[in-house]
Amino acid sequence: MINLIIFGPPGSGKGTQAAKLVKKYKLQHISTGDLFRYNLSNNTKLGKEAKKYMDKGELVPDKVTIKMLKDKVESSGKVAGFILDGFPRTIAQSKALDKFLKSRKQSVSKLVMLDVPDEELKERLLERGKTSGRADDVNPKIIQNRIDVYKNTTYPVFNYYFKDRNAVKVWGVGSLETVFKRLCFEINDLEVVKKTKKLAAAKRARAKKATEKKSKAKKTSTKKASKKKAGPKLKTAKPRKKTSSKRAKKK
Ligand code: ADP
Repeated sequence: MINLIIFGPPGSGKGTQAAKLVKKYKLQHISTGDLFRYNLSNNTKLGKEAKKYMDKGELVPDKVTIKMLKDKVESSGKVAGFILDGFPRTIAQSKALDKFLKSRKQSVSKLVMLDVPDEELKERLLERGKTSGRADDVNPKIIQNRIDVYKNTTYPVFNYYFKDRNAVKVWGVGSLETVFKRLCFEINDLEVVKKTKKLAAAKRARAKKATEKKSKAKKTSTKKASKKKAGPKLKTAKPRKKTSSKRAKKK
């Protein structure tokens, strides 16, 4: 199981990069922000509760968020792993996640943080606000509050995982592809990913060998079949000697 956390301030590109990562590593993407927005647009009880905080750029209470995350993981069925985007955002959420994964005999494989300077974040979020329809992306005061909440409450999560040496920072400025490559470099370094890659390569090699064997067997059987069709080889009759006609003349 691969359990990745994609971490970083609002506007650092977590969602965009997570979408690319899930495709490459065949993981299940869980974005708590998306889950809240889904509930919001469907006007559920959870959505109504979350809206109160999201509109102000505050965090939704831990209890609600942790339950939502657990429910989502538990209803995901059999998957190769998860990429958590926007979770955990507090130390309490991190502890709850560790405990939850432990109960499933798993752990966090790695936390990768997208490092982007504040000024760039504000620009990106205001730009996104023009088209995203997200209320929290329009007002500069709310954007600033989200950045402050990140610094004060969320950033400590990085240090929490860094102590175990499975947290890294990746420079999040550059083209989408460049940032993606930087993330992949860190993820490919994971033992579990190396092992999965090795297994997949061995499987491919076995499959190739099997198809080669099959086509070889097919070739020999068609050769045999065509020989059978043609029947046994007949000896070609030798041309008769002219002597017989000579003998006939003598007679
Ligand atoms: P961004 O990272 O761009 O701020 P998200 O979509 O991750 O956007 O989150 C949007 C909002 O949803 C957050 O500002 C917060 O109100 C709420 N939210 C998302 N994830 C969490 C979480 N793990 N804990 C508390 N609130 C959350």
